[in-house]
Amino acid sequence: MHDTSSNQAVVLGASMAGLLAARVLSERFDRVVVIERDTLPPIGENRRGVPQGRHLHGLHPRGREILDELFPGFTASLTASGAVRCDVLGDMRWQLSGHQLRQADIGLPALLASRPFLEGHVRAMVQRLPGVRSGSRPACATGTNGSPPSRAACWSSAMPSARSTRSTDRA
Ligand SMILES: Cc1cc2nc3c(=O)[nH]c(=O)nc-3n(C[C@H](O)[C@H](O)[C@H](O)COP(=O)(O)OP(=O)(O)OC[C@H]3O[C@@H](n4cnc5c(N)ncnc54)[C@H](O)[C@@H]3O)c2cc1C
Repeated sequence: MHDTSSNQAVVLGASMAGLLAARVLSERFDRVVVIERDTLPPIGENRRGVPQGRHLHGLHPRGREILDELFPGFTASLTASGAVRCDVLGDMRWQLSGHQLRQADIGLPALLASRPFLEGHVRAMVQRLPGVRSGSRPACATGTNGSPPSRAACWSSAMPSARSTRSTDRA
């Protein structure tokens, strides 16, 4: 019988969810292809597919911990490039339902950085993983409603090579 199994995973979207999915899938699959319709910019620059990227973003303690587990040295690398590490309660003012939380250090470090900065660094780390495929052309996934996918969607990703990303961009 013909063996149709493939040791390749395909991820749609090279934003935070797609990049982290690619990281996890790289443990199980020999090849991971990430398909993204945007041409991906250098670290720190906004792009069309993430319109909320221009808004204020911060990385909460648990998310930061998980990123450190997935990419050892993640926090150290981002702070060295300009991200600000701070206590999530002691160094920030939180207003919930009109009430201000008392500011006190609780030993839970968060990371302040722009969304394009965060995504760009995660993208560079994913690109360094063996087996994660980097392409040079954007591709738009189609066919999720049952129609056949476009040829480009099958084999392209828009990730620039890790060498072309800058390491000290706007945080
Ligand atoms: C105003 C605002 C402030 C926020 N602040 C924070 C914050 O402080 N901290 C925090 O953790 N989160 C924050 N968030 C939430 C965070 O931005 C989102 O949860 C996160 O960006 C979602 O990532 P995602 O990868 O799931 O999806 P998206 O970022 O939406 O990415 C989807 C990706 O898929 C691509 N794509 C879409 N269609 C196709 C297709 N057909 N083919 C190929 N590619 C395709 C897009 O180009 C894009 O790259 C905020 C959100 C908003 C709106």
